[in-house]
Amino acid sequence: MKKNIAILGSTGSIGSQALDVIREHRDKFDVEVLTAQSNVDVLVTQTNEFLPNAVVIGDETCYDELRERLKKQPVKIYAGNEALCQVVQMAGVDMVLTAMVGYAGLKPTIAAIEAGKDIALANKETLVVAGHLIIEMARKKQVRILPVDSEHSAIYQCLAGEGFNKIEKIYLTASGGPFRTLEKKALENVSPNDALNHPNWVMGAKITIDSASLMNKGLEAIEAKWLFHLDPEQIEVLVHPQSIIHSMVQFEDGSIKAQMGLPDMKLPILYAFSFPERTKTHFPRLDFSDHAKLTFEKADQKRFRNLNLAYDAMKRGGNIPCALNAANEIAVQSFLDGTIRFTVMPDIIEYAMNRIPLIKAPVFEDFEETDMESRRLAMAFING
Ligand code: NAD
Ligand code: MG
Repeated sequence: MKKNIAILGSTGSIGSQALDVIREHRDKFDVEVLTAQSNVDVLVTQTNEFLPNAVVIGDETCYDELRERLKKQPVKIYAGNEALCQVVQMAGVDMVLTAMVGYAGLKPTIAAIEAGKDIALANKETLVVAGHLIIEMARKKQVRILPVDSEHSAIYQCLAGEGFNKIEKIYLTASGGPFRTLEKKALENVSPNDALNHPNWVMGAKITIDSASLMNKGLEAIEAKWLFHLDPEQIEVLVHPQSIIHSMVQFEDGSIKAQMGLPDMKLPILYAFSFPERTKTHFPRLDFSDHAKLTFEKADQKRFRNLNLAYDAMKRGGNIPCALNAANEIAVQSFLDGTIRFTVMPDIIEYAMNRIPLIKAPVFEDFEETDMESRRLAMAFING
């Protein structure tokens, strides 16, 4: 039986690589839903190729054009955020790949879990913001959350077959980004283009900036806390510039398992789609003689303060990671717009995070409120 997949954010980096995976394995997977925020051209091309049952365009002003250009296709066409929450619940959907970016992923992910759909989770912000809520809901609904993030996929793979064996700690590997070796002073003057130039991965703009600032690793630490039920002390970030080891698990006997491969997001995407099976691929294989040296170093938390802020938010818990995420989204957008310097991002996040009152056991409405308020605080800081 084929697995029918809904892809939220199909026109992005993860979304389009997911479609590459599906194209190679048409015997195993079908596309049930495609969605995009505003990229009508790519959404039309993808729809014509994969013939989904439904498509959604987030930006309602694009709806008429999309409908006109797809009028010959037997596809249901919707617009707006509410539609995202509805299409993921359609009877024909087996699995939802959350490949949209930012806080916007939260609501449709909740809707999908409520409808009992398995989740291939790329949108890490969902777990950062509301990990407790999501994990608890998934447990109640007996829904699987399969990580697509390469580090978390690596850990998931290391845990396969380990049953109840306890994790002592995990090593989340990080490439270190384009500024790994840059002096603190020079960091002040990096441009958005410098930051968008990631050494090992081609990704969407937001996550690329997060990778350069190490916020991505901070968000991933919080993501790992929820996925693998860990305490902050059990999660160590390890800079590994070659991006060959995608992460590691250390067990209670001291043994460490690592998952390796060439950096290619198609692999974790396919693993999430196929789990618990592995699917044969023709991806290039790792040749160890091309990678004779694998190196490791500690992350420099003085130059990359975002990492500290994320750990701080994780330790404080409740709605504080939601505040961190919201302020970070504003900071990244402002840096990309050229409004602020790279090194101001942690100042904005710290300012907003420290002014949000802690709610220890937040419910959904608390996240909505915190997200809005933290964005407002971040904007206030930027506008002086
Ligand atoms: P991207 O910017 O390339 O693509 C984002 C997609 O989401 C696009 O299709 C866009 O149309 C859609 N979208 C954007 N804003 C939206 C909104 N408000 N509502 C609905 N749809 C919206 O991003 P990406 O790099 O593919 O990343 C997607 C997610 O996957 C992020 O959460 C990111 O952290 C995570 N992730 C990405 C990678 C990677 O290699 N790109 C790796 C690990 C995790
Ligand atoms: Mg990652």
